[in-house]
Amino acid sequence: MPNKRRTRQQTQQFFCPICQQRLWRSGGTKYHLYYQGKAEIQEKLNITSKRASFIATHHPVYVDANVWLEEFFCKVDLKMWLRLSKASDGLLHSRLATQADWERSVKTPDPDLPNSTVSEFTYRMSRRTGQHLARYEM
Ligand SMILES: [Zn+2]
Repeated sequence: MPNKRRTRQQTQQFFCPICQQRLWRSGGTKYHLYYQGKAEIQEKLNITSKRASFIATHHPVYVDANVWLEEFFCKVDLKMWLRLSKASDGLLHSRLATQADWERSVKTPDPDLPNSTVSEFTYRMSRRTGQHLARYEM
C-alpha cells in the first residue's frame, strides 16, 4: 500500500495566457458555474445518465464547486478573468473566461451583459440551492 504523504504545493502559480508572465490573484469573489437540466449536468460533469437524473431531480440548478471564474491581475495586460477548474489531483487548470462561461456563472459582475434579469434570477436560485449543496464524488 502506498504510504507516502501527499505533498501538495501550498500556492499554485498562474501565468498570463496572453504574455506568459506570472499572474496575481485579486482575491475577490469566485463566481461558480452552474448547470441546469439533466443533459447539461451529464455533459459537464461527465457522469452517467442515471446519476445525472438523480442530481437534476434534487438540484434544478446545480452549482459546480470545482469550476469558477476568478479575477487575476497581469502587470502587462492588467485585469482579466480566468476560468479555473479543480482537477481530481487538486491542481487548478486555468484559461481565459469566455462569454459562455459568464452566462453559466451564478452571478455576473459584467456590466456589458444586457440581460441582468436572468443573472439575478439564477443568482437567487443558486443561493437557494446553495444551502444544501452536496459534493458528488465521481
Ligand atoms: Zn499578460
